[in-house]
Amino acid sequence: MASSGSREISDISLKILLENANIGVVIHRWDTSIIYANPTALKLLRLSYNQIIGKDAKDPGWNFIDEGNRKLQVEEYPVNKVKRFHSPLSNEVLGVVDGSLNVSWFLVNAYMEFDEAEQEGFIVVTFNDITQDKFLFSCQTILDNTQDIVIVTEAENVEYPLGPKIVYVNKAFEKLTEYTAEEVIGETPRILQGQDTSKETRRKVSEALGNIEPVTATIRNYSKSGRPYWLEMHIMPLRNRHGKVTHFAAIERDVTEQIYRAEQLERRNADLKELKKNLERIVSERTDQLRRANQELERMAYYDALTGIPNRQAFYGQINRLISLAKRRNLSIVVGIIDIDFFKQLNDRFGHPFGDQVLKEVGAVLVRFFRQEDVYGRVGGEEFAFAMLLEDAKDGLIIANRLLENIRKMQLQEIPTDDGVVVGTPDLKLTASIGLYQSNEIKNLPEIDRLIKLADKALYLAKEGGRDQVKVLE
Ligand code: GH3
Ligand code: MG
Ligand code: MG
Repeated sequence: MASSGSREISDISLKILLENANIGVVIHRWDTSIIYANPTALKLLRLSYNQIIGKDAKDPGWNFIDEGNRKLQVEEYPVNKVKRFHSPLSNEVLGVVDGSLNVSWFLVNAYMEFDEAEQEGFIVVTFNDITQDKFLFSCQTILDNTQDIVIVTEAENVEYPLGPKIVYVNKAFEKLTEYTAEEVIGETPRILQGQDTSKETRRKVSEALGNIEPVTATIRNYSKSGRPYWLEMHIMPLRNRHGKVTHFAAIERDVTEQIYRAEQLERRNADLKELKKNLERIVSERTDQLRRANQELERMAYYDALTGIPNRQAFYGQINRLISLAKRRNLSIVVGIIDIDFFKQLNDRFGHPFGDQVLKEVGAVLVRFFRQEDVYGRVGGEEFAFAMLLEDAKDGLIIANRLLENIRKMQLQEIPTDDGVVVGTPDLKLTASIGLYQSNEIKNLPEIDRLIKLADKALYLAKEGGRDQVKVLE
């Protein structure tokens, strides 16, 4: 055009220029009434030509807000500001709220053409729509500020030992690994791995990358100074516009604290388990001790401590049982009381402890002598008692005499004294007397006390009769 030389820039129709401009232009008279709005302005303000022409800046139809969403006062409108201050407005951000409360954001410029002489002029407002930009955020800001680590590598050469090349790392990466972006770009993420990085996890990751699949793994890595840390990472393939995988992005989170806590918890659980095991062992030991103690108590309640044979109480319990049995089976019963002869003298001569040893031996004689079904026990100091069931009560005398014979045969000289000295009297003999009660009249048996009394009486008779013998009462 300029080459023709005949046309000047002033020949251009400004009106046509405005009609075609891709920027909103609104022209106000000095009284702020609108005399012109170009098509872009109408489109941006969503008004028709007739709606806008004649409208002034005081029109209540305007609803402007600032970036803080505050409604502007009339005197704050761009046109009024220019008019008031006689100065242009540059790059002000303004929100225009329409009838349905939709906000459009504009970058507004305004200036005036003012004739001092006539005190008249125009105010020209230009604006473009920045609504889109206003909501555009920067991915970079997110990458820079996230606590998560982001690493992008090339998708090629994922195989060991080279590994994929790092092309990007974010700030969180630099902070955790102590490497700067400059140091690691071009390197492989493998420089972060070390001795205790699980080979299995590494294999799992490189296998997924080889298959171009996303993968999630928890891995132990090392910082530049060798500090170990745990990462939970998610690696995903990135595709270009043609669908080809060009990069892998890894988003990673430092989970050292969690792993440490989990390990601590596991250790504590193991400790607790051990403690529980120990407690169970102690309880079971105590239970055993208790059971043994109970058995001992029971034994003590029924057995005489010195001789180990049933005591007086046990004997009386057993004899009751035996009498019931005799009645059921219609058998005869024999009850005997044994009293050692001149025992006091034995004590006096050889000492009380020796006497004890002798009593123990007598107990042993009884154990050997009686049968399982017989009843016997130590009922006093050197007094013993027995009871047995017989077909014929008359046999009681024979049995009692056999018992005395067994006592006579005891080898007292073999019994050690308290100080370990063997008594050197080969002729020393122990004898005892037995009082016997016997009855075939089992159906009319007297009470047990009476029975014992009769046996006692017989014993007295045996002592009277010269000792070392059996006397019988029926
Ligand atoms: P006998 O029965 O023949 O009339 O004369 P004895 O000397 O046996 O007289 P008695 O039955 O009255 O005396 C019993 C003695 O037994 C008295 C006591 O010193 C002694 N004795 C009682 N219990 C025990 C004991 O547990 N150990 C010892 N070593 N002696 C006891
Ligand atoms: Mg006695
Ligand atoms: Mg006696």
